[in-house]
Amino acid sequence: MNILRKLWQRGRDLLPVEGFHFDRPIVALQSDDWGRAGLRDREGLEQLAAAGLVLGERPYDFYTLETAQDIAALRAVLHSHHDSAGRCPSLEMNFIVANLNLEKMSAEGFQQIHLLPLAEGLPAGWNRPGLLEAYREGIHEELFYPALHGATHFCRIAFERYLAASDLTDSSERGHLLRTLWKAGTPYIHWRMPWIGYEYWNPEAPPDDRFLSADAQRDLIGRAVGDFAKLFSTLPRSACAPGYRANDDTHRAWAQIGIRIAQNGPGAAIPPHFDRHGILQLYRTAEFEPAINPDFSLDACLRSAEACFERKIPAIVSVHSINFHSSVKDFRSRTLELLDQFLAALESAHPDVLYLHGGEIYEAVNKGSCETAQGTVSVNVTRKSFTKSRVTTLPKS
Ligand SMILES: [Zn+2]
Repeated sequence: MNILRKLWQRGRDLLPVEGFHFDRPIVALQSDDWGRAGLRDREGLEQLAAAGLVLGERPYDFYTLETAQDIAALRAVLHSHHDSAGRCPSLEMNFIVANLNLEKMSAEGFQQIHLLPLAEGLPAGWNRPGLLEAYREGIHEELFYPALHGATHFCRIAFERYLAASDLTDSSERGHLLRTLWKAGTPYIHWRMPWIGYEYWNPEAPPDDRFLSADAQRDLIGRAVGDFAKLFSTLPRSACAPGYRANDDTHRAWAQIGIRIAQNGPGAAIPPHFDRHGILQLYRTAEFEPAINPDFSLDACLRSAEACFERKIPAIVSVHSINFHSSVKDFRSRTLELLDQFLAALESAHPDVLYLHGGEIYEAVNKGSCETAQGTVSVNVTRKSFTKSRVTTLPKS
């Protein structure tokens, strides 16, 4: 069955697809992992150090959780920039809408997973005054465009394997690592435990069965959309699967629940196009990740954007939430300084630049314009056939 499915997928990549091209430079900012609690600040760091876990090997050791101040500083930078239509950039923020309810799990001896929807607050020990309000204010100002990342970033089935009592003994290395992190109020640090996978993708399963079944995915997506609605009083229109691990079943389930835009990871210059579920597939084409990439170069990032404009496709910029964190390590100051320079350079080189989020790109390809608070912005969209198997890769930013 899976072999047939693979052949079918490969066959489809050889078929021509209609891609959308734009007559003016379009820039979209897409950002993942908002709302997902990581290392529980300095207290968590000290607790883990006392338990013998030395952190600092990679930037994601210091992934914590954004604060209301981080959000305010980001809003200030976005607010200071304007495109040719007088509009500020709107950061498409992909939210993880629940965290582990570690208090409840601990009371039960870590026998099963319990989730705490972000709308109901953060796990015990976390302190983020004003954070939910800061998200909502930014959305209200249209500086943020909320989208769905998932209910969890990890695959629950992969996690649950290590919840069994026998696996939580100190002799089980993985169980021990999980328990150490959980006792310190830290759900997980992905790079140290890639076996937890991604929401719809279980790395522990045989290679052809790693994606969860269509039913399992639909169930997870339905519940995540419910939690998203509780958080923002609206339904998501755009989604990005954790780890970019989405398949046709994911897209079908998204379409059924009202998602119209799918965000895909970077690497290839694929123009926006509709899939067979009527979802607009967008591909990231520039990586703006100064906190993660030790070789980050603003010039390279600008060159990636230029390469997109030459191809008449949007420059879709990937910038993960860690870049704006500051509670244990200040990633935020440098990111905001660079982001400010990046946007200023785009605005000065391209007086006709447009900042659009996924929802607006969707509107533009459907109507040739989008309605904004500043009036109607028109965009000339042309259709050109391409085959996915022949798409060129983009220079790495
Ligand atoms: Zn993510």
